[in-house]
Amino acid sequence: MSLMTREKISQAMKHGIVHETGLIAHGRGEAFDYLLGEKTIPVADLAEKTAAAALLSAKNPFLSVNGNVVALVAAECISLAEYIPAKIEVNLFHRTKERVDKISDELRNAGAEIVYGAKADVKIVGLDQDRALCDREGIFSADIILVPLEDGDRCQALINMDKTVIAIDLNPLSRTAKTASITIVDNVIRAIPNIEQWVHKLKDASKDELNAIVDMWDNEKMLGETLFFLSKRLNSLY
Ligand code: ATP
Repeated sequence: MSLMTREKISQAMKHGIVHETGLIAHGRGEAFDYLLGEKTIPVADLAEKTAAAALLSAKNPFLSVNGNVVALVAAECISLAEYIPAKIEVNLFHRTKERVDKISDELRNAGAEIVYGAKADVKIVGLDQDRALCDREGIFSADIILVPLEDGDRCQALINMDKTVIAIDLNPLSRTAKTASITIVDNVIRAIPNIEQWVHKLKDASKDELNAIVDMWDNEKMLGETLFFLSKRLNSLY
């Protein structure tokens, strides 16, 4: 893992953008990234293509971002949202108004025009605590949500609300990975730009073509393929 990435996360924590538990989550991610060989594996590329097709076919697509995501890929998220086009909302597990404002400012400084999340006028159904707060006109009314780095409970609650959830999670065994509609087992640093590449390639595809790509995705089977890739890779290393 590049020292620059660690430095970004560490600086972002000092500036109050990343929560201290975000450092621990980053460490978990790094460990899994080593196992994958720190590259986008074929099944992750297919997941990124499927995510692009789903986002392009959505009526009201949203990107739900947190401190780690903004620390690592703020500009890339803004660019992806622009091309789809999709809206961006800040949703935090350890929510404080101060941190929501700081992260929103960071996104605006990186070029985002509208950032949702500060209103927090409704709760995700079936979830308590502040992590349930979101905007009624934001992810609450979205049909498809891309959540790079989600927690298992929130992912399940969004699924229960009949939303399509696309998660990016380096841990194929996490509850989020198992619960999401489309799980991308890849580093957000590689995943977000690659989804954008696929958005460019699929921009002129018909609704039927996009739906066919999404319908072919079987999340449980693809997580199995990821675990098979990992075990094969580990066996080949000794
Ligand atoms: P769950 O609640 O889903 O069972 P968890 O308790 O690990 O899992 P979080 O702390 O919200 O939930 O998880 C953050 C996840 O993000 C971890 O699984 C970690 O591997 C992953 N992660 C951390 N950094 C990155 C990154 N740069 N790219 C992709 N995934 C990452």
